[in-house]
Amino acid sequence: MKAQVLHSYDESMQKNRWVSLENVPEPRIQGSTDVLVRIGGAGVCRTDLHVIEGALRHHVDPNSKLLPLVLGHENAGWVEEVGRDVEGFKKGDAVIVHPKISDAYFPGINCNGGFAELVHTNARNMVKLPITLSPKEVAPYADAGLTAYSVVKKAARNLTPSDYCVVIGVGGLGYTAVQCLKAMCSAEIIAVDRAPGGLVLARDGGADHVVEANGGEVDEVLSITGGRGAQAVIDCVGDHGTTTSGLAMTRAAGTYYVVGYGEDIRVATGDLVRAEKSIVGNLVGTWAELTELMRLADRGLVKLITQYYPLQDADRALQDLHKGLIKGRAVLIP
Ligand code: ZN
Repeated sequence: MKAQVLHSYDESMQKNRWVSLENVPEPRIQGSTDVLVRIGGAGVCRTDLHVIEGALRHHVDPNSKLLPLVLGHENAGWVEEVGRDVEGFKKGDAVIVHPKISDAYFPGINCNGGFAELVHTNARNMVKLPITLSPKEVAPYADAGLTAYSVVKKAARNLTPSDYCVVIGVGGLGYTAVQCLKAMCSAEIIAVDRAPGGLVLARDGGADHVVEANGGEVDEVLSITGGRGAQAVIDCVGDHGTTTSGLAMTRAAGTYYVVGYGEDIRVATGDLVRAEKSIVGNLVGTWAELTELMRLADRGLVKLITQYYPLQDADRALQDLHKGLIKGRAVLIP
């Protein structure tokens, strides 16, 4: 089958080709609960760039033994073949694939992923798609969308109509977060982004207030919230100073949720203690949450903005993402 293969890391992210289209052996059913999925769409994600630059190597690949690797952890498609103990799924069923097979295996990170015609997974990872949704439309929900849904579900539990929730960074992930907040809680939503395009997306997703991150964003959020700050701040950037501004926008006894990552969080412990703020990390979500997110999508309460690329153009999609040229999420189609 055809697959896009990563052969070497690129710490400086300067190469003009990162992956190459090759013919590789098809994955095979090994265990009785294994499933092969024919890819209908594979989301291209910032995590793929982190894999390419070797940033995750210390966690998953200290000896570079995982290379060559097929990237792609945001996968959706149709069941191709199932192991003998798999019940409830048959060839041709449209599915989205929860990315985490087990604590040991995460396709596209430390085993072959979905930048290919087929991906190998497990029956437990499968969520059937409602007939209203096609695989290529939903693939990015498998990781980016699921992460957004999961953090909003955590935050929404503590939000009342008197509260405010800030979303920092309205790209693919933040856009889903704003829509999930609109669907799942009654707090007023404040979206913060550097780019005018992000603020337009935020309005479209249902944000009640939009704030341009031009240096005055903390003051503006404080002014909107009557000087107190927001009960919940969801930071989809986690870099370029947003951890400092995000914590400053968080009210006393509020929670700062970190979703995007890059920089270190620097906070005076005295400030944290006095204001009793909480800092919470967030990574992906559960299988049940992916099912819940598909219910929201089925009802039209969340939607994605996608840019499609043929599988052979994976490099162009990755480069476009790296250069910030993608509106919403890029999806590869074999
Ligand atoms: Zn991802």
